[in-house]
Amino acid sequence: MEYDRSLISAITAIDADQSPAYNSIAMQIWEHPEVSFQEEKSAALYMDRLARVGFRIEEFPEMAHSFVAEFGSGDPVIGYMGEYDALPGMSQACTTHREPVVEGGPGHACGHNLLGMGSLVAAETLATLIRTMSFQGRVRFYGCPAEEALGRIPLVKAGRFNDADAIMTWHPADVNTPHRYTTSANLALVFSFKGLASHAGMAPQNGRSALDAVQLFNLSLEFMREHLNPGIMLHYVISDGGQRPNIVPESAATFLYIRAPSAQQVREVSKRVIKAAQGAALMTETKFSIEIRHGKCDFVPNTSIQDSLLSAMQSIPFPHPSKDETNFARDLQRTVPKNDRPSTLDPIAAPRDLLKRPLHTNIGDFGRGKRIGGSLDTGDVSYVVPTGQMNAATWPVGVGNHTWQSCAASGSSWALRAAQWAGMCMALVGFELVSDEKHTLLEAAKAEHRQAGLHYKSTMDL
Ligand SMILES: [Zn+2]
Repeated sequence: MEYDRSLISAITAIDADQSPAYNSIAMQIWEHPEVSFQEEKSAALYMDRLARVGFRIEEFPEMAHSFVAEFGSGDPVIGYMGEYDALPGMSQACTTHREPVVEGGPGHACGHNLLGMGSLVAAETLATLIRTMSFQGRVRFYGCPAEEALGRIPLVKAGRFNDADAIMTWHPADVNTPHRYTTSANLALVFSFKGLASHAGMAPQNGRSALDAVQLFNLSLEFMREHLNPGIMLHYVISDGGQRPNIVPESAATFLYIRAPSAQQVREVSKRVIKAAQGAALMTETKFSIEIRHGKCDFVPNTSIQDSLLSAMQSIPFPHPSKDETNFARDLQRTVPKNDRPSTLDPIAAPRDLLKRPLHTNIGDFGRGKRIGGSLDTGDVSYVVPTGQMNAATWPVGVGNHTWQSCAASGSSWALRAAQWAGMCMALVGFELVSDEKHTLLEAAKAEHRQAGLHYKSTMDL
């Protein structure tokens, strides 16, 4: 699909006008990283800004620092999601060598300082277009905290997305592509076993070891792997292994992740895992309890929206990196061991040739039919609303999430420009959804969602 040139010019002009304000927000958040559940200042920056440009703000009671900002009236309702949490221990200056700003402090190694800003650009731009062209429809910015921990599951469970017609978001990355690939559904559980303490030398016969139960439980998981469908993963740590060898451990625990291609498979496997825990408790005469930490559905990409996102990405000119930006990217790229660099490209079937250049400045279309091992809380949203997602090349090719290099790159001038570009692309698709009187795209997206036959149930609800 071809987008109107005058519309593209209008969008780039709106962005150019507000660009310093957008950069300021993204950089304030990068310079003052706040980890999950503590994003007080980051969320306030977005709420203040959105209120100032005419959005109505509603804070949600389900999660601290979550909110929605809405502009316009009537239907359709187009939502953009913004994240803003940082990662512990990832503090890093905007340099091409490892250099924490605060030793052991948090840092934006997943680029969520950019993620929120790009979605802000999209929401504000679409609001401006709705206002100046007098279109019917509402645009929302969803403030989504704690993506790196619990994620927006409580908001989805509370029905906060149910009345939206379409949702879009994006993620900082090393390539430009619609997010064609799915992600793994997961569930994080802690199995805590309780036994009976006794002196391990004097009276071991009086003790019942919770650590024995943990070890038998973990061993059963090892045997279970053989009989799981391909793509299902179990990974665990012993989060409590007792205190001292001369005390029969009264308590011990396994912290386990279950990952699978679909939420339904996670639920099925979790039932078998619980049986294994029951067996371990029976064998050792211990008791156990389960704590559900968090869980995410797989991401179901909406092809109709993502086809439009691809067209938008091909229509809004991608920024040209300056010489300094290119050099910075090349130096940063070289700090990633050569053999490690393809690990960002291979899972989404992006060609390794891209590694020949420091930055991906073309528009790709990768990942169709692929699934990555990681999980995203966008998955839960995609079960209830047609959801489109894209990646923008804010980082050098070969730089992956959660590294000091991605943290460094997320504070660079290049990353700010790429984030704004992502916002403009999403605004353009939002405008297509709002302005088309026949609602061609919206109806196609909804029909696709209906046909997928999704019934939302959080993986946390066993
Ligand atoms: Zn992230």
